Amino acid sequence: MNNIVPEQSRAYLPIVGSDKVLPVGRVYCVGRNYAAHSKEMGDDPERDPPFFFAKDASCVVPAIFSGVTCIAYPMATTQFEYEVELVVAIGKGGRELTLEQAADSILGYAVGLDMTRRDLQTQAKKKGRPWEVGKSFDESAPISPILLKTNWLEDNISKAEIGLKVNDNLKQRSSVANLTWSIEEVICKLSEVFELRPGDLIMTGTPENVGSVVVGDEMLAWVEHLGEIRVSVTD
Ligand code: MN
Repeated sequence: MNNIVPEQSRAYLPIVGSDKVLPVGRVYCVGRNYAAHSKEMGDDPERDPPFFFAKDASCVVPAIFSGVTCIAYPMATTQFEYEVELVVAIGKGGRELTLEQAADSILGYAVGLDMTRRDLQTQAKKKGRPWEVGKSFDESAPISPILLKTNWLEDNISKAEIGLKVNDNLKQRSSVANLTWSIEEVICKLSEVFELRPGDLIMTGTPENVGSVVVGDEMLAWVEHLGEIRVSVTD
């Protein structure tokens, strides 16, 4: 093939304890998957179930477990917000998966940030417009290396602590046990509307107490049993 323009780069995430990498496919996200976050966004978790949106795969920034990963403050916003999330990597694809098949489709897990231009997202919501301007922009998805699933990890990740600090101040802290749709339910429901493929990522939603960062801030995001990433916001 003779490209008429240079091919755009794609994201690869390292696999912990392996020389293999995951070529990132699609990046699906779940909105309002923790009731307390749904409430802080002004929604009624009883009436409004979680739902899906997506980020372009080019939004992914591979974040390291030791050291600091930098992202640039994005253009066109004055309200740049963090959302710490458990990320699930899909190893086996398929459509209309059962809960058992959904569990079997999981390759591994990672810690991620669903960075959001909240002002643009809020405007889009008000006008009933798509969310891409608020969610799918360059460097909006820093994601850690992937830990491959083991039986032990699968059992324990569903009740792991998830949290985020900004400049050492605790901002978000919850448990994966508070997910409205469990990991397997998310995969099941997603596979009812999209045929999943190996390499797809799912950002499973953020707990309450989202907030904004400015240039110079450093976020520390973790999911128990997986590890923590430090992400610094630069000019
Ligand atoms: Mn999110």
